[in-house]
Amino acid sequence: TEAHIASMAAQRKLNAYITETPEQALEMAKASDTKRAKGEAGKMEGLPIAIKDLFCTENVQTTAASHILEGFIPQYESTVTANLFGNGAVMLGKTNLDEFAMGSSNMTSYYGNVINPWKGKDGKDLVPGGSSGGSAAAVAGRMALAATGTDTGGSIRQPAAYCGIVGLKPTYGRCSRWGVVAFASSLDQAGPMTRTVRDAAIMLGAMAGHDAKDSTSAPMAVPDFEAALSGDIRGMKIGIPKEYRVDGMPDEIARLWDDGVAMLRDAGADVVDITLPHTKYALPTYYIVAPAEASSNLARYDGVRFGQRVMEDGDSLDDMYMKTRAAGFGKEVQRRIMIGTYVLSAGYYDAYYNKALKVRRRIYEDFANAFGTVDAVLTPTAPSAAFAVGENSDDPVKMYLNDVFTVPASLAGLPGLSVPTGLSDNGLPLGLQLIGKPFDEETVIRIGGVLE
Ligand code: GLN
Repeated sequence: TEAHIASMAAQRKLNAYITETPEQALEMAKASDTKRAKGEAGKMEGLPIAIKDLFCTENVQTTAASHILEGFIPQYESTVTANLFGNGAVMLGKTNLDEFAMGSSNMTSYYGNVINPWKGKDGKDLVPGGSSGGSAAAVAGRMALAATGTDTGGSIRQPAAYCGIVGLKPTYGRCSRWGVVAFASSLDQAGPMTRTVRDAAIMLGAMAGHDAKDSTSAPMAVPDFEAALSGDIRGMKIGIPKEYRVDGMPDEIARLWDDGVAMLRDAGADVVDITLPHTKYALPTYYIVAPAEASSNLARYDGVRFGQRVMEDGDSLDDMYMKTRAAGFGKEVQRRIMIGTYVLSAGYYDAYYNKALKVRRRIYEDFANAFGTVDAVLTPTAPSAAFAVGENSDDPVKMYLNDVFTVPASLAGLPGLSVPTGLSDNGLPLGLQLIGKPFDEETVIRIGGVLE
């Protein structure tokens, strides 16, 4: 814990943390020593980790990287963080993210962007990916042993790939959403971001489990995920979806994917071509469903219940709402609220939102069909390596294209694991994604162990 606190202080210019909690960390570490001495060590006893600043932490500021929540100090602990601390994990601090987890670069944070600890051969400052960019940078930069992330459309997997670490989005319902600031409730899932697949397996076991406080949390036992790492994938069937070979896929990404196939074949797996015909609709579907849910979830930031309030003498209630939200929400969040309100409005509901729900079902069925024959699906995690700070920021649609390989599994609620598997021409980490059947994290963990 002391070594990590020193590393955090030495790398503040990367801006990975919004809030550092070194005193609490040392206290927690001391309590862990006592527990260990008594032979009562939990699964993660004494391990210093970072928490994405989207998880409510009792008595520790929780901002969601938004101005509107600045100074919000929850009186309660999210279920996932409570589970982790109950298993002995030590909290080093709260990590930076895109505002309300909306983004793929960490550029939308009110607290400034995060810089990726990796540098390419050209020496430019790079984004860590997003939205869990602070968590990914903290783990890659040795400022935390592991970190929590959340993933709505790729926010664990894509930053993990950009920072050369492992990121696991569990099946929707595997981890409780209680106490996690909501972005899009039918998609949000918490998961581990770690250096190795084994660490991810251990940490997922400490985070997951049914929670009566989240009605979408699955009443399922938590398996021993670490035991799944047998190293033996002989005879397993792994699908390669041809629709993911998108136009203009860079050579280095195509090569990485081919290398992954070769690694799996060498290990005795049977790699076969599959089809997921509705893949091309996933991105537009996601960018209707996610903003629709966000516009509804963010209505609670009304200047009364949480965080900031902006009003002057004589202002009406409407004036207060407008001034608070204009000052408190950043541009990307405002854009999502407007898109979401539009697609949910009376005249457009059927044309956009309802249509998107139908396509979402088709995307789910594509996967269900594929899983009739294969155990898991292998794809790249992202269409490129980490890009330069500022790049893509003036063009939201270009930014959204980053999520092309991660959103389908999100819409279908499936587990997705990103494993660092190779390097780009510029010397940067690249990740491959394994998508599994519902509640079959064990299979993606087993196969992931062969790819790292
Ligand atoms: N990049 C995607 C978005 O901006 C996904 C974000 C996430 O998974 N939280 O919505």
